[in-house]
Amino acid sequence: MTLDPDPAALFPGPHPAAFAAHRAALEAALSCLERAAAGRGPYRGTSPSALETLAGAVEVLPEHGRPLGEALAGVGDLAVAHAVDPTHPACAAHLHSPPLNAALAADVLVSATNPSLDSWDQSPAATHLELRLIETLCAMAGLPAEADGVFTTGGTQSNLMALLLARDAALSRQGHDAAMDGLGPQGANLRIVCSEMAHFSVQRSAAVLGLGNRAVVTVHTDDRYRLRPDALEDTLDRLERDGLTPMAVVATAGTTDFGSIDPLPAVATVARRRGVWLHVDAAYAGGLLLSDRHRGLLEGVEQADSVGVDFHKLLWQPIACGALLVRDRVALAPVDVEVAYLNAADADQESEWRQPHLVGKSLQTTRRFDALKVLVTFQTLGRRTLGALLDRTLDLAACAADLIAAAPSLDLVQRPTLNSVVLRCRPCLDEPERSDRLNAAVRTRLLADGAAVVGRTEVGGRTHLKLTLLNPAASRADLAVLVATITQTADRLDRHPPAPPPGPR
Ligand SMILES: *Cc1c(COP(=O)(O)O)cnc(C)c1O
Repeated sequence: MTLDPDPAALFPGPHPAAFAAHRAALEAALSCLERAAAGRGPYRGTSPSALETLAGAVEVLPEHGRPLGEALAGVGDLAVAHAVDPTHPACAAHLHSPPLNAALAADVLVSATNPSLDSWDQSPAATHLELRLIETLCAMAGLPAEADGVFTTGGTQSNLMALLLARDAALSRQGHDAAMDGLGPQGANLRIVCSEMAHFSVQRSAAVLGLGNRAVVTVHTDDRYRLRPDALEDTLDRLERDGLTPMAVVATAGTTDFGSIDPLPAVATVARRRGVWLHVDAAYAGGLLLSDRHRGLLEGVEQADSVGVDFHKLLWQPIACGALLVRDRVALAPVDVEVAYLNAADADQESEWRQPHLVGKSLQTTRRFDALKVLVTFQTLGRRTLGALLDRTLDLAACAADLIAAAPSLDLVQRPTLNSVVLRCRPCLDEPERSDRLNAAVRTRLLADGAAVVGRTEVGGRTHLKLTLLNPAASRADLAVLVATITQTADRLDRHPPAPPPGPR
């Protein structure tokens, strides 16, 4: 049977024709980016309903294909032209970073060679390079020689896995094998303790782990939204009196709204004294381990039983890229598996051919080689430059805070710890609902104008705006423009409030 086109022309390969086809495909993708770049702001302003129409017009599975360039000019252009541009200085809503060129190049290699880290024979070099990087990350975090870890899809998966390990360790101390026998009656007594500002994935993990949202006990924070160690002690005392088992304390290094860092040394002391697993959720702030100026903020992380770090936030990696580190490799036992077709050890493998298979360290089976982009980033920029870039983003946030504090119609909620700056337009004490509506409207107007992508959050139940400034290529002048745009948009909307939404027709 002959096929047109020849299947060999569809895949990258080692011969010149396949190589040329691969290069042409990558160039076609770059042209797509180039076409979308002309005159581009942070967003085109396309509404959800307009996008629904555009997506609705896409013929998803045509009977006959067409050249790649044409396909990219269709659905590719649609995807790129109506993306938000995280490299634009006014794209500042979330922990959504511009990806570094070095990492993008590494990702091309990863996609083309497509290693899968579950078994060594799908990822020989990748396995050893990930192990090597994990070893370095553990050392950077100050964890002991027995430490280990694995790449994850990000903080959510790192939190889930850390809490799974903590749960099974706690039940195992009571002589119960959760992996084999499920939660058992003891499971109902397990509690996870974190601050009220911890990430929602802690609750979600508790639900997934069969403990339920209500197994998460939250502790009050101080005036800078950091967990209060005295409140932590009180909570642990209370749980003990009630005959409950605290299985983990989760400390946050970089809360999503304020970038607050819980007092890690004090929290570690409390957790250690009571023999409770300490997980540090450093999804946001973990990147600061590379900064000479700011790594002190993470002091105490070296006492954690597990640490989650995201590189798709403060290290400008393409999504997804995170890691979970554990203090003692033995703790990973609950996710270990032996699968005949993946990682069974044969008798002849007691030699230099003994193959490490990482499937037993992860909740995933097929797993992408996300470590390469971090390695290429480290190699290309070095620790000094990466540290300086991180420092610069924190300086930019401080600068934005100065501009907001100086603007009469804006209220700065507090000085930023990291990169996020929370503000409120025209805080109106007599009519807080009116300010709520105005702030929400400002955010939507900025999106619709394609002028800026800013975040929203709630502080004390009131709607606020949030800037997350992760882009070290932004300038102070860019920030001045961004803050002025917010002020002017708020003034305009305050004078001419948008018409109420149309009623049902
Ligand atoms: C972003 C974040 C998460 C979730 O991480 P993902 O990478 O989005 O899965 C968890 N915790 C904190 C503190 C975060 O900032």
